[in-house]
Amino acid sequence: MSRQLFVTTALPYANGKFHIGHIMEYIQADIWVRFQRMQGNHVNFVGADDAHGAPIMIAAEKAGLSPQQFVANIAAGRKEYLDGFHIEFDNWSSTDSPENHALAQQIYRDLKTNDLIETRTIEQFFDPDKNMFLPDRYIKGECPKCASKDQYGDNCENCGAVYAPTDLINPYSALSGATPVLKSSEHFFFKLSDQRCVDFLESWTQDGRLQPEVANKVKEWFSVRTNPDGSQSEGLGDWDISRDAPYFGIQIPDAPGKYFYVWLDAPVGYLASLKNLLEKRGENFDAYMALPGLEQHHFIGKDIVTFHTLFWPAMLKFSGRKTPDKIHVHGFLTVNNGEKMSKSRGTGLDPLKYLSLGMNPEWLRYYLAAKLNAKNEDIDFNADDFMARVNSDLIGKYINIASRAAGFIAKRFAGKLGEVSADGSSLLAALRDQKDNIEQLYESRELAKALRETMLLTDRVNAYVDQNKPWELAKQPGMDARLQDVCTVCIEAFRILSIYLKPVLPALVLQVEHFIKTRPLSFSDVASSLGKDHLIGDYKHLMQRVTPEQLEALFEPPAQAESALEAIDSIATVPGGEEIAPTITIDDFAKIDLRIAKIVNCEAVEGSVKLLRLTLDVGEGRMRNVFSGIASAYKPEDLIGKHTVMVANLAPRKMKFGISEGMVLAASHADAKAQPGIYVLKPLPGAMAGMRIG
Ligand SMILES: [Zn+2]
Repeated sequence: MSRQLFVTTALPYANGKFHIGHIMEYIQADIWVRFQRMQGNHVNFVGADDAHGAPIMIAAEKAGLSPQQFVANIAAGRKEYLDGFHIEFDNWSSTDSPENHALAQQIYRDLKTNDLIETRTIEQFFDPDKNMFLPDRYIKGECPKCASKDQYGDNCENCGAVYAPTDLINPYSALSGATPVLKSSEHFFFKLSDQRCVDFLESWTQDGRLQPEVANKVKEWFSVRTNPDGSQSEGLGDWDISRDAPYFGIQIPDAPGKYFYVWLDAPVGYLASLKNLLEKRGENFDAYMALPGLEQHHFIGKDIVTFHTLFWPAMLKFSGRKTPDKIHVHGFLTVNNGEKMSKSRGTGLDPLKYLSLGMNPEWLRYYLAAKLNAKNEDIDFNADDFMARVNSDLIGKYINIASRAAGFIAKRFAGKLGEVSADGSSLLAALRDQKDNIEQLYESRELAKALRETMLLTDRVNAYVDQNKPWELAKQPGMDARLQDVCTVCIEAFRILSIYLKPVLPALVLQVEHFIKTRPLSFSDVASSLGKDHLIGDYKHLMQRVTPEQLEALFEPPAQAESALEAIDSIATVPGGEEIAPTITIDDFAKIDLRIAKIVNCEAVEGSVKLLRLTLDVGEGRMRNVFSGIASAYKPEDLIGKHTVMVANLAPRKMKFGISEGMVLAASHADAKAQPGIYVLKPLPGAMAGMRIG
């Protein structure tokens, strides 16, 4: 009986490119989906951009785009990553789609009919400088639970606590820096504290569908807790689902100026993307969702457990819909030193850079799979470990089996497989015996264990090769049959191992299928064999080794510091690759004395490839000596006699080559690698040395 599965990954927020954390989640889910398909199960695997909310509205405004256009630009960049890492979603949509507007509004109406929506006037933070209610993400302060600094207004990245922005200690507006004031507004609430919701969720979260560690964490949220101010909160609180205009989102029916909070319509986007897919295929969404035995699986990170184990199932249940069967929670990816990967904290491992260096995407798929288990633990990317797993395990153990046997089959036996004798048969039987175990490990997302079991099998095959030494058999007269036997066993074993690895290495195994001339392999093919007289093709090298140089290049820090790394990530929307600096007053500006300077002389600096030595006249009756890092852009003779702009009151700095008495102004992009070039400023004709700029 084949299963019907509806599988999603968390919807990425459409205000930036994918980072390696997204790619890890998609690879994990993609492996699981490919495994299910190799079992003969039917899967719809969908994703979408999470398009709504204040951060996107604000970012779009900054970029001078409509939110729709801003999101479309981000969405246009998704394919490069997904194709690059062999991640095959059946559909990619957006939470701003018509399907999602309609579904979110319908779910709301159903909840309202069920008496689970109410309105309350609440006091909310208002930015007096910006004249708007502050979105949660734009209020920062200390977490009320663990006191971590600079946490957002809705949840804590450090301890995972979820709270109201008004719970933050020492709040401030991230838009203006102002201390926010409280102002009242009518808000809509989903009554999660309703006994029906509590009863449902207490059983739904504890009936085995969640990972044990996740279920235990969720359990705490049902119990009475003590707030930082000493007051007691009992169990689940109601959920504020509305936001005031201006907001980019879905309008709440019959409530002008009120929008759904982005987290209400984001998970609805799973269903909307599925509906979009099914309608494109001419299938019926409601009929699909009503299929008996349909399984709904969500892959998510551990930072968004609350939304997926409380709000989302309760919304579905009490709007009369099917609830998820499994929520698969994973940890974060850290790189080498235990630093959490996220856009706001630097790039670490840039997926596009990885691809642009010509690194094989399946190395990364294999490496991540070799680290992932069914728990929500963090996993660490370590460059040495990466090289060892790819070169020693994947290539040294697995690929090596084919390369050791294929040449003899081609040269000595015209590509034909031979008879397998008893010792070979028993080895192949041992490989086949692991099928159920490996299937079970994939099913339960124990990817690391599935690969470990497979690698143990490669060890057995390699031991068989070492015992039988085909390269020696090939030299001995009369040993042709045994040579063909041993090499045939290798190819048959390689085929079985390829089935076990195919969910992780789809492109590689596609090449294997061509090479051994077989139809697309699935788990049911483990039991069969290619058989005597089967013709295989010519062996072409299946995979290159990873080199230390590639890993070095991957982690080579960009020319600029952290701020520039962020700029690269949002190059399309940030002028010159970096955000405009915080506002200063005219008095601040007046402190900087900018003057027209004449470049009287200019020369190269012996011992420095970067610097030029400029002799500048600022009309003081003496010359200034200034070093400037512009040698890559100008020859001395380009500059002599020209006027430029200098900071005339910068404290003199002692440098290796002498004292620099000021600074010449020049323009450059924050990402000097992506957009090289340095441009010295030059006034329009008529300006004279010594004139002040202001
Ligand atoms: Zn915290």
